[in-house]
Amino acid sequence: MNDLRSLPSVDSVLQSSTGVRLVKEYGRSLVVEGLRETLDEIRTSYRQEGKKVPNLDVITSRTERLLQHWTKSTLYPVINATGIIIHTNLGRAPLSESALKSIAKVGGGYSTLEFDMEKGKRGSRLDHASELFTRLFDVDGALVVNNNASAVLLALQTFAKNQEVVIARSQLIEIGGGFRIPDVLTQSGAALVEVGTTNRIHISDYEQAIRDETAAVMRAHRSNFAFVGFTKEPALRDIAEVSHAANLLMIDDLGSGALLDTAPYGLKHEPMVQESLQAGADLVCFSGDKLLGGPQAGIILGRHDLIQEMKNEPLARAIRADKTALAGLSATLLHYLRGEGEEKIPVWQMISADRASLHERAKDWQKKLGKGTILETLSKVGGGSLPGETLPTYGLALEMEHPQSYLKALREADVPVVARVEDERVILDPRTVLPHQDPDLIRILQITGASDERRS
Ligand SMILES: *Cc1c(COP(=O)(O)O)cnc(C)c1O
Repeated sequence: MNDLRSLPSVDSVLQSSTGVRLVKEYGRSLVVEGLRETLDEIRTSYRQEGKKVPNLDVITSRTERLLQHWTKSTLYPVINATGIIIHTNLGRAPLSESALKSIAKVGGGYSTLEFDMEKGKRGSRLDHASELFTRLFDVDGALVVNNNASAVLLALQTFAKNQEVVIARSQLIEIGGGFRIPDVLTQSGAALVEVGTTNRIHISDYEQAIRDETAAVMRAHRSNFAFVGFTKEPALRDIAEVSHAANLLMIDDLGSGALLDTAPYGLKHEPMVQESLQAGADLVCFSGDKLLGGPQAGIILGRHDLIQEMKNEPLARAIRADKTALAGLSATLLHYLRGEGEEKIPVWQMISADRASLHERAKDWQKKLGKGTILETLSKVGGGSLPGETLPTYGLALEMEHPQSYLKALREADVPVVARVEDERVILDPRTVLPHQDPDLIRILQITGASDERRS
């Protein structure tokens, strides 16, 4: 009897031993949905293609595959062998061990998020990381929000809504992902007044643009492209001076915002938070997950009364930071406070990794793998900081017949690996591979695409 009458009912499959196991694993309603879909498909292919009706084992295993597919997370860890340290598509900054611990502790239970333990009554979530910022910098106010895009939006909306903001034409940037300075200004309700030319801006351009309707002068850091050749932009100190002479706020969107100097590592100097404040910026905005090396967050530093005004905006509530981000950020800031940023924060460990140790690791991979050549190549900082700047590194280069399909195979491995192709070779850069990932990386390289190796 091989017709549709032999097809079991949903109920009878649920009562089978596999059915019981699936319900335990996936929950009843999802299993019922999966079974219905599987049985429907079987009916359709019986009627339309005359296919046989399968037995119970086949039905349950098809249902299980469907359930696995439906419940597979789309967000999972990967090994970053690209050599791009702050890789926005791969989640920017990996967190330090103590940031992770702190997130687990705060996230896994109740916390003082909005509770003042001393007074035993309501406190403010906005105070947690803020104290650390005021300890780290010469500033008496700090506000942490969801990300830097929202930080800039909040600053502009609070202080420049229905008024004008003066900004250099050379800084009307798009950083990707839909963040464009002119659009953010429009969104905040402020009118954009651009000054200077694309390549040259003089301090007098600012002076001439300021009028009664002006609320603020803004600077945006050109995070992702180089400004070279016949170019000129006034120093931040001079822009701040002109702003203050006209009683205007000077808002600095630093983008990445470094807390440590990048120059000692052979990189260009990325503008630092402390420099902005010293130069006279009234509000300095930057990201938590770029060079700071913490979780996603937007930070605004400035005078206490200005910060207070921003806190009172309804928008501040809409873009508030989550408790786990606040916990991770505070733990990351403590590394700076203790002077151990370079040793403990992964982004800075990677930036400061010395060439000898990178060479060692690439050689170790080569030895364990028994193939590939060691290549002098370049890592990048990435993530909207230091455009075009590179760090010399050693990569393992694999000669492949089809490098792009090898990359795809690496992405599909059980621990996915993201690498890059250079001159038709697959390059793996140890700088961005966390040391504990080495065994997985070697294993994946051993089992992936061995047949694709180019015969020399
Ligand atoms: C990265 C960046 C932003 C946006 O920061 P997010 O934290 O990603 O929201 C804004 N401005 C500049 C100049 C940036 O580089």
